[in-house]
Amino acid sequence: MDSTFSLPADSGAAEIFDDASGAVPSFLDRLFDQGLLVRTGIDGLYGRSGAFESVVDALERLISRLGATDSAEVMRFPPAMSRPAFERSGYLKGFPNLAGTVHSFCGNEAEHAELLACVEARNDWTGHQQATDIVLTPAACYPLYPAAAARGRLPAEGGLFDLQSYCFRREPSLEPTRMQLFRMREFVRMGSPEQVLAFRESWLARGSEMIRSLALPLAIDVANDPFFGRAGRMLANNQRQQNLKFELNVPVNSVEKPTACLSFNYHQDHFGTTWDLRQADGSVAHTACVGFGLERITLALLRHHGLDLAAWPDSVRTTLWG
Ligand code: ATP
Ligand code: ZN
Repeated sequence: MDSTFSLPADSGAAEIFDDASGAVPSFLDRLFDQGLLVRTGIDGLYGRSGAFESVVDALERLISRLGATDSAEVMRFPPAMSRPAFERSGYLKGFPNLAGTVHSFCGNEAEHAELLACVEARNDWTGHQQATDIVLTPAACYPLYPAAAARGRLPAEGGLFDLQSYCFRREPSLEPTRMQLFRMREFVRMGSPEQVLAFRESWLARGSEMIRSLALPLAIDVANDPFFGRAGRMLANNQRQQNLKFELNVPVNSVEKPTACLSFNYHQDHFGTTWDLRQADGSVAHTACVGFGLERITLALLRHHGLDLAAWPDSVRTTLWG
């Protein structure tokens, strides 16, 4: 796999990382100053400007065009999912630290008065909250597997879905590319190992072509998920050794630590077994997904082509807006 960056000769990309000294505002501060992102007081939780959203919208259309020939079934879920489904998915085994749960007040009037007294006194009021049957979606594909399995066996040609969702991960950071709530566009393939691996191959090629058409430098690398704890390190090694996950990286915060803007994951039969998702012949389905980080690609464009969208290279503007 190609793991060196090909910096477009005319992009000036090499120079944009020369401002690493603390003397200039950080990339995040410049995004705030330009109004592209809006502060909320919480790291990783931001508002987005109309200009920022115009790029996200254009990326969505570009991704739709790239996938159009496959006729994926479009499905949209809200940015939350069923807690029982979440528990069954196994997410808590790998990423207990990233999960976000929805809690609500379920008390009576007397407890309401206690709650307000706590808020007034600036004491912890959250003890009055109880876990609901809803958790925040950690990746756009998580609500899909139980819904697809509930339909019964897949057709002979397998399944292909087009998803988009805000996703939550409890990973506060000052790197603008690591948000706590961000959007992931995904295509998910279900079927035989051959079908899902062919899907992943084709998106490795199409995703690379897409990023090149945006005049961004990229490298594809083997990757692993940030599994929790000591047992997690074994899972991560395993994932790498079996080439289950690839990332398309673009330098955004620094050249040394590039940012995964697209991910290509082969889950083998993990979700098929978990959800009893079956192929037409009754055998357990394999699954794979390609995820596009919509904010991350937008931030990569802003970093490489500047904070003024009107001044972006014509070729990039044409790719995005025709
Ligand atoms: P990382 O390794 O940087 O934590 P990841 O590989 O774990 O990211 P995935 O779980 O594969 O990310 O998610 C799919 C895509 O969602 C990523 O390729 C990335 O573009 C985007 N993404 C993941 N985490 C974040 C985040 N905290 N903020 C913004 N985008 C994110
Ligand atoms: Zn996925």
